[in-house]
Amino acid sequence: MQGQTTLENNVKSLNCMHFINGQYIASKNGKTFDNINPATQEILGWVSEGGREEIDLAVGAARRALDGPWKKMSSHDRISVIRRIGDLILERKDELAKLESLDTGKPYWLSSTVDIPRSAYNFHFFADYLRALGTEAYQTDDTAINYSIRRPVGVVGLINPWNLPLLLLTWKLAPCLAAGNTVVMKPAELTPITATLLGEICRDAGVPDGVVNIVHGFGPDSAGAALTEHPDVDAISFTGETATGKVIMAAAAKSLKKLSYELGGKNPNIIFADSNLDEVIETTLKSSFINQGEVCLCGSRIYVERPVYEEFLQKFVARTKELVVGDPFDPKTKVGALIGAEHYQRVLSYIQLAQEEGGQILTGGRRPEGMDKGYYLEPTVIVGLNRNCRVVREEIFGPVVTVMPFDSEEEVIAQANDTHYGLSASIWTNDLRRAHRVAGQIEAGIIWVNTWFLRDLRTPFGGMKQSGIGREGGMHSFDFYTELTNICIKL
Ligand code: NAD
Repeated sequence: MQGQTTLENNVKSLNCMHFINGQYIASKNGKTFDNINPATQEILGWVSEGGREEIDLAVGAARRALDGPWKKMSSHDRISVIRRIGDLILERKDELAKLESLDTGKPYWLSSTVDIPRSAYNFHFFADYLRALGTEAYQTDDTAINYSIRRPVGVVGLINPWNLPLLLLTWKLAPCLAAGNTVVMKPAELTPITATLLGEICRDAGVPDGVVNIVHGFGPDSAGAALTEHPDVDAISFTGETATGKVIMAAAAKSLKKLSYELGGKNPNIIFADSNLDEVIETTLKSSFINQGEVCLCGSRIYVERPVYEEFLQKFVARTKELVVGDPFDPKTKVGALIGAEHYQRVLSYIQLAQEEGGQILTGGRRPEGMDKGYYLEPTVIVGLNRNCRVVREEIFGPVVTVMPFDSEEEVIAQANDTHYGLSASIWTNDLRRAHRVAGQIEAGIIWVNTWFLRDLRTPFGGMKQSGIGREGGMHSFDFYTELTNICIKL
């Protein structure tokens, strides 16, 4: 594979151990599992499989570290350490981007221009945010002054998915550390490599031992479940499937942990006839197929106003056919490999289901010719389905979109909202009033007008309905990772 020669020169090992109390350690019972390269189906290395024992060790270390040098560190020094983590990620950008692409199957151009730089920026952003953070204060007439102080929540468990491994982990870790907490992270079992290196990076940046801990393993009956059930963990921030969120909520209820949830989505992309169709198609190709469609924010339900439906379809399908599917390290590749065997079969089963439900596949739907190895799938465009079809209602999380015509604003709003998800939506129109009117009625936490994935990290990020609980970003992250105490002084 192109890129791998260079990789061998600058990557020490693709095996992943836990990182507990500042040290890399294997599981006590020596258990490991294989990590598979989705692009070749070859074994990349082994991963230590943690369970109750390793979670206990990690939570114990994190608990002790809460009262150690981390607590005594001035906010000025803490900000410097957090900034330094971002600097070190940038220094190792090339290595981390290669590892991220090996682990996930995503194109290298994507991990090197989005995943890794954004991971670094997460630390830079929250370091700056902490420096500017003030406090709430109220004077109650001549009677009293109130002010609030923020304190860390304590030991926080961070549980993450495989689609944007380092980006999403750091999106949680940066504010969590800025707020003074200590952490036990459980990266996705399918993508453990960059998370493992993050331990070393944090140590090199000056994070005291025990503040950041990483335990690898699976969810049920494994490290994930052990973390969510642990009585000494104060909060869990989870990104993953809605179904997993329900299981974690039940486990966390026993010790009433604070929860933050970023869950699944089935996001509508609403295209009105007055929009600029060339711009729409350019962005819709990204919102449909970037990262193999494995982004929670991907717009998988495309609604097009009838006057431009045919023109949109014809242009969109033509452009979709041009997307090169293949080796993540080939610069021409636009769509890499899906994450793994199980997910690949799941996505294929939805394509099969689409046909059973009466849908018509206009392009894609199969493994590209001549590619026998790797979880590759041609980007897929499906028409002819209605709002009651499972393919239109359920999250597929792959390079598969459905396109449906609509005739009125009311109709498309009703269709867009006809789901138990509520993560994001895109609205395309040049009518200013309509943009505001429709945006105000779509049930989603994040709405873009005439764009997609444009992010300002100060804004609230998260979903409504079964797409999440709470918001991340700027002040919202601090609200989750801190406890507020109001102090009232009688005058
Ligand atoms: P998943 O829920 O299967 O797994 C996520 C993490 O949870 C993994 O680390 C897994 O090991 C762990 N886990 C699984 N069962 C567990 C249990 N019982 N207890 C504790 N931990 C457990 O999700 P996935 O397949 O890795 O990721 C894809 C999903 O993530 C999609 O639904 C996608 O929409 C969602 N996602 C949401 C956002 C967002 O910001 N809203 C971002 C990215 C991905």
